[in-house]
Parts: sequence; C-alpha cells; structure tokens
Amino acid sequence: MHAAEQYIESLYLADEVLERVKIGIREANMPEISIAFGYGRLLTLLVKTAGARRILEIGALGGYSGICLARGLPADGRLISLEINPDFAAVAARHLRMAGLDGIAEVRVGDATESMRRLEEEGARFDFVFIDADKGGYPAYLEAALRLTVPGALIVADNALLKGKTFNPEADGPSVRAMRAFNEAVASDPRLESVILPAYDGLAIARVKT
Ligand code: MG
Repeated sequence: MHAAEQYIESLYLADEVLERVKIGIREANMPEISIAFGYGRLLTLLVKTAGARRILEIGALGGYSGICLARGLPADGRLISLEINPDFAAVAARHLRMAGLDGIAEVRVGDATESMRRLEEEGARFDFVFIDADKGGYPAYLEAALRLTVPGALIVADNALLKGKTFNPEADGPSVRAMRAFNEAVASDPRLESVILPAYDGLAIARVKT
C-alpha cells in the first residue's frame, strides 16, 4: 500500500465486521485479495448515491466486497453474488450472515458466464454490477453485464492495474491481455461513460448511458 493510501485509511476507525471477515478469510486459507478498504467504502457510497436496488457481483470470494455492496442497499434491495468455488461461497455466505445482510444477499455457486446467461434468460436486470473475479473473464463479463443492466446502471470492476502489469510493456500473459482489453473497452465503448481510478490496484467505474 502506498503512503497516501495508508494515511487516508488511518483517518477511519477500523470496521469491526470487515476486520472479522479478513480474519475469517485468513483462517479459511483463502487468498487475501479482498477489495481495498477505501474501495470497499467507495462501493457502499456508489450503491447509496446511485440508489441501486439490484446488484450483481461476479466473484464473491469471502464476502468482503459483498458486505460493502449490500450495506448500500435499501431494506428491500437485493444482491446476487456469483462464486465458482463452493468453499469460498460458503465462507462468503457465512460472513454476509454475520454482517446481518443474509436477508438481502445471496451467494450463487457456479461458473459466472453460465450464471449470467441463466439470469439473462430469466429476464433478471440489475442497476449495479461489480466485477472482481478471474481476470481472463473480464471482457466477457463486461459484455454480459451490458446485457444484464438497465440504462443508467453502474458497472464497477476491481484490479484495473493488475499490480502494475497492465501498464508495464514487458508484462504479458492471458490475464494481462484480458485486463488491458477490458480497460480499453471501459474507456472507449460508446455505450459507457467511465473513469478508472489508479489508487490501490485500480478501479474502473462505468455508467451505462441512457
Ligand atoms: Mg480484486
């Protein structure tokens, strides 16, 4: 973490629920790659200010970002979080329950592309999509998100920088190429207006044009 990020984080009281989630993730031997503290706060703020009511999350991991998203929802809102790893999904569901958000949040186990296709067939539509899953899948997740969202919806994605690999000309590989393609699509797709924040590991925020 950069000194600037550390300084900003030091201004805030520790979030007891999210601290417990991080411990739970460590104890479950899961990768400790939850969204950064500041971006978690930003997710809650974005959901609230956008007045989002139906959120789709791609990649639940241990439920950290799911909690941040669901916290922004009204009591009758809904979060569907997709997770391919059933063990991770169980941890995420436990953490959402611990946070008192299990009434509005649901973790679905399965391949995200398949789950999104099914949601599309069911006619489900979302006003907020958060992408934080396998990086190779990002370009396809963006296309699927565009099919699943209403005009004015927000599509937010973590890890735009891939620890600096996306802008390092020497870095290569399927994940790097996919993330570069994703970032370029976010920046130039005529269906979107967007910004990509370069703090932490980079966060893309796009709005589906009306
Ligand atoms: Mg991430």
